[in-house]
Amino acid sequence: MSIVIRDIDKQFGSFTALNHVDLEIPTGELVALLGPSGSGKTTLLRIIAGLETPDGGTVFFEGEDATAQRVQDRKVGFVFQHYALFRHMTVFENVAFGLRVRPARSRPSREAINAKVNELLKLVQMDRLGNRYPAQLSGGQRQRIALARALAVEPKVMLLDEPFGALDAKVRKELRHWIRHLHDEIHVTSIFVTHDQEEALEVADRIVVMNEGRIEQIGTPEAVYDHPVNSFVYQFLGNVNLFRGRLDRGKVRIGASEFVAPEHRDAAAQSAIAYVRPHELAIERHSEDNQSIKARVAHIRAIGPVVRLELKRADDNSLIEAELTKERFTELRLAEGDEVFVGLKNLKVFVENYV
Ligand code: ATP
Repeated sequence: MSIVIRDIDKQFGSFTALNHVDLEIPTGELVALLGPSGSGKTTLLRIIAGLETPDGGTVFFEGEDATAQRVQDRKVGFVFQHYALFRHMTVFENVAFGLRVRPARSRPSREAINAKVNELLKLVQMDRLGNRYPAQLSGGQRQRIALARALAVEPKVMLLDEPFGALDAKVRKELRHWIRHLHDEIHVTSIFVTHDQEEALEVADRIVVMNEGRIEQIGTPEAVYDHPVNSFVYQFLGNVNLFRGRLDRGKVRIGASEFVAPEHRDAAAQSAIAYVRPHELAIERHSEDNQSIKARVAHIRAIGPVVRLELKRADDNSLIEAELTKERFTELRLAEGDEVFVGLKNLKVFVENYV
């Protein structure tokens, strides 16, 4: 089922939780709502679900105005971060529940329910644990059962609010891959809320980046990561270094150094901030031009296949975070206290007023 959100507003007292939100989700897409705490992700999800009424705007399901439709008529399935399963029911009974409580005229036969539950347990790879009780499952297994239970009633839309939020990092990572595969199999239009950029980048077809009740950018993971529309999106999607400078005719001047600012050829001289991700800094021992920033190695930390460096700029003592491959680090033979020159390979420049 396709979803269209038009000009949605939501206030809580004098607080604006959602501010003119527009969003279109075609049938079968897996979309991540990504943003910091309090940006309005859950509120938007609850409005789509029908658990919250917007102050203004319209929600269309499959082209029809569903804004006033009751939750139970919307054909949505939910999975929440702490979606408590029924503790006194087995896994099998939990998944069967939504079908068993249907009114008699639309309730499937006992055999049909059994077949459906078995099929779902297989789908979420839990078919051998049907007789267990929730207390006998791991957190990741419980969330898979919550998902199977939500899918049992054949929702047209799946809404997931931080479904893996309460799980440890390793299980989270496993479930991420798993949910992507599951979605590729069942193709139900799905929206999940997360504040974890890695999760959104890995799992979603498109990412909706939210901030203070507004949508900052909507795009594929590649688009939001590589072509952020503003510095908020760029900073939210990964670690960045920030260099204050001055933009003039396609060049950005940072301290005594100068770099090409690819997307800003025609701008007149103005204050700007250049952002560069730690792995996109080019570290050299020598420099013969002014296209690098002089710094000193303050701290070295090797983590798995990468080496993180903390560098201190020579001109203003501010810190730069750099990330090198082990090979490059070995090649450079760096030690704490060494002088280095920092080139900016893939800088993004946003014009910003600062003092
Ligand atoms: P988180 O990641 O922390 O869950 P979020 O992006 O999902 O954040 P929302 O839960 O949508 O954010 O909340 C947005 C803002 O609206 C927050 O500042 C929150 O305090 C406020 N808010 C949400 N629900 C209510 C409510 N029922 N009454 C008052 N304020 C609310």
